[in-house]
Amino acid sequence: MSGEPHLSGPRSRPVSDLGQDDSVLPFAVEELDVRGRVARLGASIDQILGRHSYPGAVARVLGEALALTVLLGSSLKIDGRFQLQTRSDGAVDMIVVDFDAPDRLRAFARFDAERLLDAPRADVLGRGHLAFTVDQGRDAARYQGVVALEGQGLEEAAHQYFRQSEQIPTRIRLAVAQIVTASGLGWRAGGLMLQFLPAGGERRRQVDLCPGEEPQHSIREAVPEDGAWVEAKALAATIEDHELVDPVLSSERLLYRLFHEPGVTVFAPQPVRDACRCSDDGVKTMLRGFSAEDRRDMVGDDGMIGVTCEFCSTFRAFDPKEFGE
Ligand SMILES: [Zn+2]
Repeated sequence: MSGEPHLSGPRSRPVSDLGQDDSVLPFAVEELDVRGRVARLGASIDQILGRHSYPGAVARVLGEALALTVLLGSSLKIDGRFQLQTRSDGAVDMIVVDFDAPDRLRAFARFDAERLLDAPRADVLGRGHLAFTVDQGRDAARYQGVVALEGQGLEEAAHQYFRQSEQIPTRIRLAVAQIVTASGLGWRAGGLMLQFLPAGGERRRQVDLCPGEEPQHSIREAVPEDGAWVEAKALAATIEDHELVDPVLSSERLLYRLFHEPGVTVFAPQPVRDACRCSDDGVKTMLRGFSAEDRRDMVGDDGMIGVTCEFCSTFRAFDPKEFGE
């Protein structure tokens, strides 16, 4: 064994310093029964945020939403779709982020520029809700989860969602920054997700078999958290925001910094790209859904129906004759 930093697991090898922008790196810390993913977004979110010229505060919150979406959506099956959506009463009153497995990402935010000037920097969303919709393809049911937004931010809202929905114990970290690159200022985002997945057995049963007439939530609170999970969360809490967005700190190096003591195994990185799902046919189908009268109202001075995609800003013009008018 050399003194070089190594990743553990069956394919143990030295830590790579190669940048892995616009990708998600799945990993496991077997010793702590933890699995997770690191997302590092560079050009993909710089293009998405830059295309709309969002003010900084909007770009920041949408960047967090993009990182969160990539962390949650990148585990879907090949034809799965994941959508994050917020509706709230703040200066940014709507965010929509779509992840189409395996790699397509698109997003937009709706905001009130005037209200943004007075909005508290830490809370541009205000009160409302955050919803996650999972569509695993043709044969699977659609699933939606919702959590209240009350000024706590997306990271904390995600934690509340996982607590409420009684899913796997989960920890999430998100960071967004605009940094100087060779070609000017560029947006970057990073995220880390940790999930506690003890292999069957004792640690889970302990909670389920707890006797008594108490309501379930107080039983759960009475069972102390597993030591491995407490340790994993403490390690994740040491990540600094700047580490998550640092373009010269590779995801592997970041994971090694956090988990070199218990040992960390990484799996194949999954690429992510800025790509919308809109199409000429899709927009035509949407327009056919309107009444002839509504379509007449859409005709512009040039005699055409113009439609701009909210996500990717692609402009398309259609001749009303295409709809038999
Ligand atoms: Zn589009």
